Amino acid sequence: MGVSYYACKCCGESRYEEYVGSCTTCGKTLGTCCVVNDDIGSDYAYEYGVIYDGSEAQKNEYGIEEDWEEKGWVTIGEVIDDTSIQPKYCPFCTGEEIAQEDILAYLLKQIGKTHTEVEREYRDYINKRKASE
Ligand SMILES: [Zn+2]
Ligand SMILES: [Zn+2]
Repeated sequence: MGVSYYACKCCGESRYEEYVGSCTTCGKTLGTCCVVNDDIGSDYAYEYGVIYDGSEAQKNEYGIEEDWEEKGWVTIGEVIDDTSIQPKYCPFCTGEEIAQEDILAYLLKQIGKTHTEVEREYRDYINKRKASE
């Protein structure tokens, strides 16, 4: 059994898997080293996971059956997804940090082009540049 390490998207450092989770909104891998609004103060990522609230939306999202609460498999107020980090703790979702890929996605949306279209244009640009050398 090996120990896995994951790189925190925010600071770039690799951390032991228990200290790392992924944001449920933006999907970025985050270490507890870089969480924001930290009202928990733990090194363990699972403590920042999504809390079960008993809502239909969560039941659908996580495929929770009606009798799971009865069976004690899920408890309201307890972490339901221990591999995730809630977006309120995510430096990217709260705007504390800005990732290049997010800027790119934003720009693409602003100019109304897809990544593929821009890639094609960029290749043309490179080829033209090469041809004029
Ligand atoms: Zn970090
Ligand atoms: Zn996020």
